[in-house]
Amino acid sequence: MKYLFVGLLFCIVLSNFTIVLGTNLFDFKPKPNRDIANAEKCFCKLSEEVDDCGCKIEQIDRLNNYQIHPRINGLVQKDYFRFIKLNLNKICQFWSDDARCSLKDCHIKACNQEDLPASFRKIISLKENQDQVSGCEQTNPLGHINSSLSDESLKAFEDMKKYDDAQDSFCEPDDESNAQAEYLDLVLNPERFTGYKAPHAHKIWNSIYRENCFENTDRVAYGPEKNACLEKRFFYRLVSGLHTSINIHLSARFLHKGVLGQPDVWGPNPEEFFKRFDPEKTNGLGPQWLKNLYFIYLVELRALAKVAPYLEKETFYAGRNQQEDEDTKTAVVDILKIATSFQHHFNETNLFRGNPIEAKKLKEEFQTKFRNITRIMDCVGCDKCRLWGKVQTLALGTSLKILFSGKISSDNQPTKNLFQLSRIEIVALFNGFARLSNSITEIENFRESLSNCKLNKGMKNQNAEL
Ligand SMILES: Cc1cc2nc3c(=O)[nH]c(=O)nc-3n(C[C@H](O)[C@H](O)[C@H](O)COP(=O)(O)OP(=O)(O)OC[C@H]3O[C@@H](n4cnc5c(N)ncnc54)[C@H](O)[C@@H]3O)c2cc1C
Repeated sequence: MKYLFVGLLFCIVLSNFTIVLGTNLFDFKPKPNRDIANAEKCFCKLSEEVDDCGCKIEQIDRLNNYQIHPRINGLVQKDYFRFIKLNLNKICQFWSDDARCSLKDCHIKACNQEDLPASFRKIISLKENQDQVSGCEQTNPLGHINSSLSDESLKAFEDMKKYDDAQDSFCEPDDESNAQAEYLDLVLNPERFTGYKAPHAHKIWNSIYRENCFENTDRVAYGPEKNACLEKRFFYRLVSGLHTSINIHLSARFLHKGVLGQPDVWGPNPEEFFKRFDPEKTNGLGPQWLKNLYFIYLVELRALAKVAPYLEKETFYAGRNQQEDEDTKTAVVDILKIATSFQHHFNETNLFRGNPIEAKKLKEEFQTKFRNITRIMDCVGCDKCRLWGKVQTLALGTSLKILFSGKISSDNQPTKNLFQLSRIEIVALFNGFARLSNSITEIENFRESLSNCKLNKGMKNQNAEL
């Protein structure tokens, strides 16, 4: 009943009834007709093709909204995908005044050991057991095995593997064995409005876009350089698409302050969305930023399709519930099938071509810059934003690793034992892609709520989180 009431008011505001009550309750102003007209203008532009890809926005909307989104949204709720082990306490390497924001909505709800599925808890108890075993060995000389040689070989092997992985990798994933790394429940800590804003948030975005500026200049590149090569435009579009996705989520899960004793309500805020993407308010750039979301979506979709044969062999074992583990595997295979059957994939082979020495140099430069972006995430001052920033940059870094690793053959078969993804990379890959998928459905929701105010549709994403 409460949501019906909230929804009714939501629609009243959108229908431009200048009712004072609606303004107060949701803390947004009634929309003049001009804004609706702008909305039409803004979204009409999105009916074109996605740059450098051979497909139209509508094709991606159809694929995502009807096939991918319902599936991936369910998948990331499952045990294997909802828990991720990250270190949110890493020191910012770039500047010292990384004041952690004390906003209530920035806080992360920690995960109790008892809430974790057995397999994740086992990692801890296995380690404890190992410690106990080595203690026993010391007290029993007969049982003692001289492991010094194998330790050395093991270390050499580990170093080789690290070197090998580093060649492929576009990020620096958190070291899961670090004592400060802890399991976090992504379902319990959804990405939404936190109130994190300028100047801190701008400092982070500035630094990220500066990485896009491949020359050593102080100019902050909020767009690709003039006549930039394909790789540099690619880099900019990925970052911009990620930025778009984050800003769509905070607009779609906005905190509407309750007045007159009413509780606060989480729900969509179309005015926030338009403020961020309306061409008039963004120097005409808003529609391009939205298109960049579709671009990054296509890149991650292609990565999933490419790595499908590898992922189909994974077990996705969490160990709390056998049936759920089986369902998880089935759901992954199902999504991969859809991803693989898409006709208009992004073609990564167009990048890093030409003169092999130049191409290699450019790829390394690209890798270094992307790794820096993942390090910048340790400087994000709001824990919740840091968590999702890390997950999403890791997802993108994992996608780039898949696309450019060279250890997956042209028929998408990973070279035996050479190509590897860690659990954290797999979990981030699916969660990051799920975020992009969700953003695309949110665009559709905003479009629908603004063009025809149907109560049911407008209410689709109202959340009951308080
Ligand atoms: C890693 C990270 C994660 C975050 N997560 C959250 C979160 O979960 N919840 C939350 O409420 N806030 C989050 N924020 C903050 C949020 O992204 C904004 O920075 C904040 O709301 C302030 O917005 P703004 O209007 O000042 O512009 P900002 O979004 O900060 O953008 C700064 C400038 O960048 C340009 N710009 C904007 N969008 C794009 C684009 N898509 N492509 C290219 N250029 C663009 C514009 O010129 C704009 O003025 C996060 C910030 C960062 C850096």
